[in-house]
Amino acid sequence: MTTAVREVSVFGDAIAYFNDAADLLELDGGMRRILTNPSRQIIFSIPFQRDTGEFEVYTGYRVQFSFARGPAKGGIRYHPGVTLDEVTALAFWMTWKCAVVDLPFGGGKGGVTCDPTQLSMNEVERITRRYAAELVEVVGPDKDVPAPDVNTTPQVMAWFMDTYSMHVRQNMPGVVTGKPLEIGGSRGRTEATGRGVTICALDEMAEIGLRPEQTSIAIQGFGNVGKYAAKLFEDRGCKVVGISDVTGAYYNDEGIYVSGAMEHVAKHGTLEGFKGGDKITNAELLTSECDVLVPAALEKVFTPETAANVKAKLIVEGANGPTTPEADRIFKERGITVIPDIMANAGGVTVSYFEWAQDRAGYFWKESEVNQRLEDFLLTNLHEIRGIANSRHATLRTAAYTLAIDRVVKALKLRGIYA
Ligand code: NAD
Repeated sequence: MTTAVREVSVFGDAIAYFNDAADLLELDGGMRRILTNPSRQIIFSIPFQRDTGEFEVYTGYRVQFSFARGPAKGGIRYHPGVTLDEVTALAFWMTWKCAVVDLPFGGGKGGVTCDPTQLSMNEVERITRRYAAELVEVVGPDKDVPAPDVNTTPQVMAWFMDTYSMHVRQNMPGVVTGKPLEIGGSRGRTEATGRGVTICALDEMAEIGLRPEQTSIAIQGFGNVGKYAAKLFEDRGCKVVGISDVTGAYYNDEGIYVSGAMEHVAKHGTLEGFKGGDKITNAELLTSECDVLVPAALEKVFTPETAANVKAKLIVEGANGPTTPEADRIFKERGITVIPDIMANAGGVTVSYFEWAQDRAGYFWKESEVNQRLEDFLLTNLHEIRGIANSRHATLRTAAYTLAIDRVVKALKLRGIYA
């Protein structure tokens, strides 16, 4: 991932969604306090040498929000805006995302406050190795398993894994996920989040009576999540009518040729100059004619103003936090179904779990096997969420949080609170 995608501002939204579900579950104040306070927050200095020979000191963080269901799990981001509050908020979010798809993980997140655009590869390697070395005692396949996030790559994970392995004197691929295939990565990981978006969308389309060949799709964002989702929708016979990226949006009611758009981006870096559709604004894309709308770029794109004008029948949240609680209420009133982020974009962390399981077994699956298991995991849990939504007259979002919180609470109660 490469962008300055920022999610911390949506922590308030995540707490609002948590509270809706906690009310439905009638959780008492003590349990709410336990669930909303991080288990452990770690802050440390990262001294490192610039290529010029000069020394600098950056700040590193790792927050292990919950261990109730297993080792902490969550990405590491390198960004100038990284703070303890941001990392904590994202670790809270990871707790529910892992629980909603029933992964045997808690929630975690990490980061380094730095600007990778101003650093050489060698400098990023030195920072990563020192970051990993500082965490040797508290991470590990049974403790906490980091992964890539904003501005961290499979190469960064390879350096992390190597440093950890050196310190513990054995090869430990299961300490991080999102690694290159050659050193214990999983097949299917790159497309997993986009694939998960498509799996959830197609299942919900069947539920509301939309056949793929009659369904038009618009997607905001054409990065890792958006472009693979677009391609898979096209492969399944849907008509992708709108796509966009930071440079603008493109609409074609005859259908956009997604492979052509992917080739354009591979060649030019962005969609700028793409000729496969009429250029419209990003705001227009959100309210364009389509059956299914997939936000896959930024947080808070659906405010009450946009929500009132959305024409889609189904929204599938590829991005984290694209819908404000106020907009969510409008979607509910208007009868627009929303598959929430913690479910819709959980494909990536699910295949991360597969990677961890494969590393520990030392046996690697074919891509078709990864994809089949991904579909099983996502659909089993989406169906459970739908059952809760129907029986409790709740939105899919409240149902998803309810399922996730209930699973964490059950684990906590079985283990007992060591107080
Ligand atoms: P990415 O950096 O690969 O792509 C982001 C895309 O959004 C790019 O095409 C960019 O041009 C576009 N974009 C940026 N600003 C825009 C704007 N104002 N209007 C329209 N498009 C804009 O990022 P990604 O990995 O695809 O992540 C996208 C979202 O999905 C983020 O919210 C991320 O947190 C979430 N997510 C990603 C993964 C994953 O596995 N990559 C997993 C879960 C959630």
